Amino acid sequence: MLIGDQWRHATSGRTLAVFNPATGEEIAQVPDADIDDVNHAVAVARETGREPHWRDMLPAVRERLLLKFADLIEQHGDELAHLETLNQGKPLGIARAVDVGAGVQWLRYMAGWATKIDGSVVDLSFPVPEGTRYRAMVRREPVGVVGAIVPWNFPLAMAIWKIAPALATGCTIVLKPAEETPLTALRIAELALEAGLPPGVLNVITGRGESAGAALVAHPDVAKISFTGSTEVGRLIGQRCGADIRRVALELGGKSPVIVLDDCDVEVAIQGAAAGIFFNSGQVCTAGSRLYVPKRKFEQVVDGVAAVADALEVGSGFEMTTQIGPMVSRRHRERVLGLIRTGTSEGAELLAGGDAPDRPGYFVRPTVFAHTSGTPLTLVREEVFGPVLVAMPYDTIDDVIRQANDTEYGLAASVWTTHIGNAMRIADRLEAGTVWINTHNVIDPAMPFGGVKQSGIGREHGRAAIDAYTECKSVCVAY
Ligand code: NAP
Ligand code: MG
Repeated sequence: MLIGDQWRHATSGRTLAVFNPATGEEIAQVPDADIDDVNHAVAVARETGREPHWRDMLPAVRERLLLKFADLIEQHGDELAHLETLNQGKPLGIARAVDVGAGVQWLRYMAGWATKIDGSVVDLSFPVPEGTRYRAMVRREPVGVVGAIVPWNFPLAMAIWKIAPALATGCTIVLKPAEETPLTALRIAELALEAGLPPGVLNVITGRGESAGAALVAHPDVAKISFTGSTEVGRLIGQRCGADIRRVALELGGKSPVIVLDDCDVEVAIQGAAAGIFFNSGQVCTAGSRLYVPKRKFEQVVDGVAAVADALEVGSGFEMTTQIGPMVSRRHRERVLGLIRTGTSEGAELLAGGDAPDRPGYFVRPTVFAHTSGTPLTLVREEVFGPVLVAMPYDTIDDVIRQANDTEYGLAASVWTTHIGNAMRIADRLEAGTVWINTHNVIDPAMPFGGVKQSGIGREHGRAAIDAYTECKSVCVAY
């Protein structure tokens, strides 16, 4: 683990095995941090945050350091993408373009914010003593030590989503990657030092959620927890932060609807719906896992998506033809296969996939169900986080909006149409943090992102991220 500028073992000496999900082979051992290590990392982050060389660093210097950090990640792009594919399983091209490429873009975008954080000046109406004037300067200050906890689906990108705004605003950070995928986070922390970021501003502890993660969440010197992961764990973290009066941002699960309208371009909708669910093997919080199609186009669209699913190449992320990599772990594959079996037993009609190919590694074939009876289905309610789609027919726009919103989640949705006015009217009525029109899964550092309902609290990216990592201080002058 990297704490300050020290590579460290866990104080307990314990380690965790890390696997290649495409083969099931062990590829590394990392420290299994517990409360002692967390205490040390938070102490280092806190001290560093108070030292003049970080606290008083000129915004332009912070900006340049972050740009240098981005350059180094870009220069090591092939190495990092290779490491991500080895550890996470995703196709190398996606690791290169999305995890590394977008990560670099995020850092550069947030670096620019370092020099643009401003406040306001307010004239007060307080009249005492008579003749006195009061003026307040409202300034945004870094919140302090950020505890960042991220999942395994886009390990590098998820880490950078939190590192970039934290450092741009002058916070310090202790990052806990998912236990399955710690390798790229460790490597970029090393690159951060090489870029000249002061030791102690970015610390990475590896370990398990219930020990290292929980200790970070409970640490009194952590000013803010930024969490991306499941709603189940998010609820625990939110409870704890509520009890401790600690800032918390929760980016949680989803069950995002894909709504095809009667006036759509059918081929575009088929390709879009397939990409919306199968990207990153469905291990995407915004995966379009519920497909709604008008009755009279149902067969055509759903058969089209099933044909795309059948044709997708499943394999190791290192094979250039691979489109669908493995599930991240054996345990996760068992969960996905279990939910597929539930779908069948509850009466959904299997149109594609539904099983694991006969090869080593944690693969699941892209799976498409049709569900036309309207009876309750676990797969319509529960996040699978795998390549599993359920398609359902609808009659009217009111009917499909009701079905789309009939979920505890509210992360994202997409609408497919050739009439922008129809899409706009539907977008206004969907309960989701992001609504895409004729696209799905598009995310950008300038566009706020996050959920409503059980999909989370808070927004990442854009100006919203700067607000989320800073706190207002009012300085009031009498004159
Ligand atoms: P998870 O089990 O919730 O784990 C996420 C992170 O939390 C991991 O680092 C995990 O550590 C840690 N953790 C687990 N229990 C904890 C505890 N009691 N206290 C503190 N930390 C704890 O989620 P996952 O299975 O890795 O990831 C999939 C989920 O993430 C899905 O639900 C998906 O929708 C969501 N997600 C959301 C977004 C978004 O932006 N909204 C983006 C991507 C993914 P361990 O790895 O050691 O368990
Ligand atoms: Mg986990």
